[in-house]
Amino acid sequence: MTTNRFAKKAKLENRINHNEKYMQLHFSLMEPFSQPFLAGQYVSIKIGERQDLRSYSICSSPSSLDGFDLLIDVTPHGIGTTFLQNLAIGAEIEVLAPLGKFVLKNDVLDRPIVLIGTGSGVAPLMSMCHQFLENMHGTHLMQLLWGERFSKDFIWLDTLNRLQQEHSNFKFLPTVSRPVEGETFPQGRVTDVLNSLQLIPSTNYYLCGNRSMIEDVSKFLLDKGVWESEIFYEKFY
Ligand SMILES: Cc1cc2nc3c(=O)[nH]c(=O)nc-3n(C[C@H](O)[C@H](O)[C@H](O)COP(=O)(O)OP(=O)(O)OC[C@H]3O[C@@H](n4cnc5c(N)ncnc54)[C@H](O)[C@@H]3O)c2cc1C
Repeated sequence: MTTNRFAKKAKLENRINHNEKYMQLHFSLMEPFSQPFLAGQYVSIKIGERQDLRSYSICSSPSSLDGFDLLIDVTPHGIGTTFLQNLAIGAEIEVLAPLGKFVLKNDVLDRPIVLIGTGSGVAPLMSMCHQFLENMHGTHLMQLLWGERFSKDFIWLDTLNRLQQEHSNFKFLPTVSRPVEGETFPQGRVTDVLNSLQLIPSTNYYLCGNRSMIEDVSKFLLDKGVWESEIFYEKFY
């Protein structure tokens, strides 16, 4: 039996306010109780009485079939983020899911992978890390480049450091674009980090973030001789 991928009901089970920028929400599925998804896919949430839609990438591992986590950058303070900030634990929402084609390609186990995210663009990339390293036991090199303005914005550092310790083929490369005095994180934009790497032929690049980052990184990679067919992206806004 195929399930209707639209109009699922989900219940807010938990909220973690990581810092001033990020909130993580855990939803359990109500109808149906279980739904497979691919790392990188997103849900579209019906917001409020006008039923506007807002899209949010799933950041949790696809091995959890009975629910999903979202990472919300609350700083836009628009109708979507305000709705989710005010949503009470136990509240039910309607979602269209799973959506999107920004997923690890079929040859994922045959090639090195570079994941490049800025801001909340790290959300689908985190799901991909879990899928590749923990579920698929991938052995090729996977590098996660994550750019934030400030080091205080980073979250999940324990998880990312653990993944790095447990998987010798995983490298986490954070960078801050607006370093403060005494900055301990590497500084620069994600293109600076890319520039410091030796680009390995046949690597697949997965980009997620805002439009200008996607344009800048794509141009950088194309100028370095990476094929267009090796670059995949999801634009948030
Ligand atoms: C496929 C897809 C997946 C997405 N996944 C996520 C996700 O995992 N986490 C997440 O936080 N957002 C994600 N977004 C963005 C999200 O859908 C909303 O656009 C965002 O939450 C703002 O909605 P809003 O109603 O609060 O603000 P709106 O009133 O719709 O927008 C307010 C302003 O904020 C800008 N804006 C939108 N997103 C951001 C942002 N992250 N940072 C700064 N400015 C922004 C918009 O361009 C607009 O000018 C995703 C978007 C797409 C298309």
